Amino acid sequence: MKEDYLSWGRYPKVSQEIYNVLWRSESFPKINASTSYLPYGMGRSYGDVCLNNEGVILRTASMARYISFDERNGIIRCDAGVCLHDLLQFIVPKGWFVPVTPGTRYVTIGGMIANDIHGKNHHRVGTFGCHVNSFELLRSDGSRLSCSQKENPDLFAATVGGLGLTGLITWAEIRLSKIAGPYIDTETIRFDNLADFFELSKESDKAWEYTVAWIDSLAKGKSLGRGLFMRGNHSDKTGTEKLAEIKQKLTIPFDAPSSLLNKYSIKLFNNAYYRKQFSRTVHKPQLYDKFFYPLDGIGQWNRLYGKKGLLQYQCVVPAEAGNNAISDILSQCISKGQGSFLSVLKVFGKKKSPGLLSFPREGVTLALDFPNRGKETFSLLDTLDKIVLKAGGAVYPAKDARMDSTSFKTYYPNWNEFAEYIDPQFSSSFWRRVMEQTG
Ligand SMILES: Cc1cc2nc3c(=O)[nH]c(=O)nc-3n(C[C@H](O)[C@H](O)[C@H](O)COP(=O)(O)OP(=O)(O)OC[C@H]3O[C@@H](n4cnc5c(N)ncnc54)[C@H](O)[C@@H]3O)c2cc1C
Repeated sequence: MKEDYLSWGRYPKVSQEIYNVLWRSESFPKINASTSYLPYGMGRSYGDVCLNNEGVILRTASMARYISFDERNGIIRCDAGVCLHDLLQFIVPKGWFVPVTPGTRYVTIGGMIANDIHGKNHHRVGTFGCHVNSFELLRSDGSRLSCSQKENPDLFAATVGGLGLTGLITWAEIRLSKIAGPYIDTETIRFDNLADFFELSKESDKAWEYTVAWIDSLAKGKSLGRGLFMRGNHSDKTGTEKLAEIKQKLTIPFDAPSSLLNKYSIKLFNNAYYRKQFSRTVHKPQLYDKFFYPLDGIGQWNRLYGKKGLLQYQCVVPAEAGNNAISDILSQCISKGQGSFLSVLKVFGKKKSPGLLSFPREGVTLALDFPNRGKETFSLLDTLDKIVLKAGGAVYPAKDARMDSTSFKTYYPNWNEFAEYIDPQFSSSFWRRVMEQTG
């Protein structure tokens, strides 16, 4: 039976059939020979990479068992449906952390591989895919392929960042990072403009494992790109008694009116957030969830954007183009009166991603959240695409619901080579859209 389905951005809405995968040893579910399949983790992608309109999604959240853990060397093998939150609760007390984490802990290992996610330490360690030893891929013909840099290396490269199109990852083996305890020593510095951001980023890259900035997307003139620069290192502070406190404290119970997030409320929030700390620099140790996952404290915060949802726009532009391209993007948002509620800026490092279709590459990445106001928002994002294309950058599929085929093919020139590895029975709403296939 088909159900209406939304991803995290709540746009677009699709109708698809859900099949719950329970065991990694299950054979491939042949529901209907003419149907297409797509794996699904926790649907924390914003757009349609995790949606398959009129097809079947293979929901993996119940396939979530641990297989082995080499505690001495920090190597874990687990089902692809294991949720990052649960994994951290298991490994942090044992002195280990994931090598790379996104800004939410409600994602699965399979989803982290398929989008080759990046974190605040990209400048040091690259993407999540750089730390995957191996995984098993279940194809629709029933075959099971072991993939690593040595075994089926082509399929490994196509599957890391492969948007779920090459088959179902059933389990994966990951190399973890050693930590002393669950705390992060953090420093938050208020900065005045984009040039200051680039200075701070450069100065922090060597001594700080994690760096990222929140920016005030509506600040103009000399203050363009002002914000708060956050940097952190795993602390020597030990003690795991506070771990039990890591949970959602509040849930948004209904869709907010779409007028809640308007130009004035966003400006008010940005101003207040920019001034949230009295001194220019604040140091403090924080539990890892406060530093990495501040939004997870509020369940279903995406409902604040109202029924029409939100469009997130994340791009990366090469360093040479960085300052100008980012200034142009921010200026466009200001001139169109469309501020972003949460705007994040980060410099990516040189380490190459192992995936054929991975998004991260050396340069500067900017993520912006816009309430979906229909035509107005789509037209702004088309304009931003032009800036990114001109700068030789790319837009992140995990956050996208609207980029066109030409843009995708320019951002990802390997798409043709990648397409050879797609499982013949797998597809997604995203892929059909960027390949200009109907449905
Ligand atoms: C608040 C928030 C913060 C975020 N911060 C970041 C960030 O800092 N960095 C970043 O890179 N991303 C970030 N994201 C995006 C998120 O990390 C990715 O979209 C992630 O892939 C979602 O994982 P998921 O398990 O929910 O996968 P889904 O969204 O359900 O699926 C994502 C893709 O993975 C595929 N997939 C899922 N499971 C499997 C499997 N077992 N086998 C094969 N393919 C599979 C799906 O087909 C789909 O193409 C953020 C998202 C949110 C909501």
